Amino acid sequence: MPSTGGSRILDGFQPAYDATAVRRLREAGAIVVGKTNLDEFGMGSTTEGSGFQVTTNPWDDSRVPGGSSGGSASAVSARQCVVSLGSDTGGSVRQPASFCGVVGLKPTYGRVSRFGLMAYASSLDVVGCFGSSVFDTATILSVIAGHDKMDSTSSSHDVPDYRSDLASLSLLESKPLNNVRIGIIQETLGEGVDAGVVSSIRSAASHLEQLGSVVEEVSMPSFSLGLPAYYILASSEASSNLSRYDGIRWYLNLILLQLFFPFYQYLCSWKVIFRYGQQVSADDLNEMYGDSRANGLGHEVKMRILMGTYALSAGYYDAYYKRAQQVRTLVKKSFEEALGKYDILISPAAPSAAYKIGEKTNDPLAMYAGDIMTVNVNMAGLPALVVPCGFVEGGSAGLPVGLQMIGSPFSEGSLLRVGHIFE
Ligand code: GLN
Repeated sequence: MPSTGGSRILDGFQPAYDATAVRRLREAGAIVVGKTNLDEFGMGSTTEGSGFQVTTNPWDDSRVPGGSSGGSASAVSARQCVVSLGSDTGGSVRQPASFCGVVGLKPTYGRVSRFGLMAYASSLDVVGCFGSSVFDTATILSVIAGHDKMDSTSSSHDVPDYRSDLASLSLLESKPLNNVRIGIIQETLGEGVDAGVVSSIRSAASHLEQLGSVVEEVSMPSFSLGLPAYYILASSEASSNLSRYDGIRWYLNLILLQLFFPFYQYLCSWKVIFRYGQQVSADDLNEMYGDSRANGLGHEVKMRILMGTYALSAGYYDAYYKRAQQVRTLVKKSFEEALGKYDILISPAAPSAAYKIGEKTNDPLAMYAGDIMTVNVNMAGLPALVVPCGFVEGGSAGLPVGLQMIGSPFSEGSLLRVGHIFE
């Protein structure tokens, strides 16, 4: 099946192997019905940034499904498939799950192998899953999680059978969440968050309380620092990761290069080198790279590459990249502290429900601001589950709102249990 990552530069690219997560699903008997649309290389929050087409939200087709993995969320929401995969670098599974009213799970960093996943920002990227229920999502995680020798950052931490854990729960108990301590992150319910979202989260919190848990507010003052730091780190890593897209299929060309080195420039101009995607013919190799990238990459991706290259450049490294890394440590520590007191932290998955297509296309900063709820979790490498928890007005049937539950590393099992009881 072709793989483009939503980018025209990979138009027509046919990968030679399956990603580990996909291979494991196929081996477990899953039928892959297709690949879904996304913002180009995962950069965006609406799926409008795809090089191919705009995906709509099944709840109201004049609205975005969220992003970047909006196609995967939309497909599950429209019941075109039972479950789907996405990648979550800064919220791309959780925010579209919230916009489309489905379950979305971002596993702990390293829980699922990244082998075969197109890299955006390697220190933040994880493969996540969507399902129409927590049970379906748990089923997928049990299959795709676990160590993989093809990804040295994948963890060898035990993989429990998340599904049978859920099956053994008694949902008839009156207080099934007894002894679970839950903290609502105060900073996520303040200014800039839609009133309807705040009230859905508050009623979800009282539902959790009725189920037996202790719910308290917890303050995380460094919460808002995460967003600018994330955009510096993610763009910096992207500027390096995306340098591979130059229109040339290097592993075959290296053989040509070795065999015909003195004539390589001529081979290029005679168009006998192997290519993929949108390679633009040019007389000179550098010109070919430049033109292929100028032509094949979209506006948002180019902007991120420029931002990242700038942040990493010698004169600015300390002021931007290094500082953002320091903020990352701060964010990590504040989560460690809060998760020392609470089993689970909760917040909205996004400050609003799905908005109109085109509403934020001319205002990238407004789009970036919508990631405030999710990016910190990636910076800290933690797992988080999003479950539908309410509706706000909009569309013909209302628009879904998602509740985000954040846990300590490798606590996916607990998050899924609480999510399952909650739904
Ligand atoms: N919206 C965020 C970004 O554009 C997150 C994307 C993601 O998780 N892939 O970077």
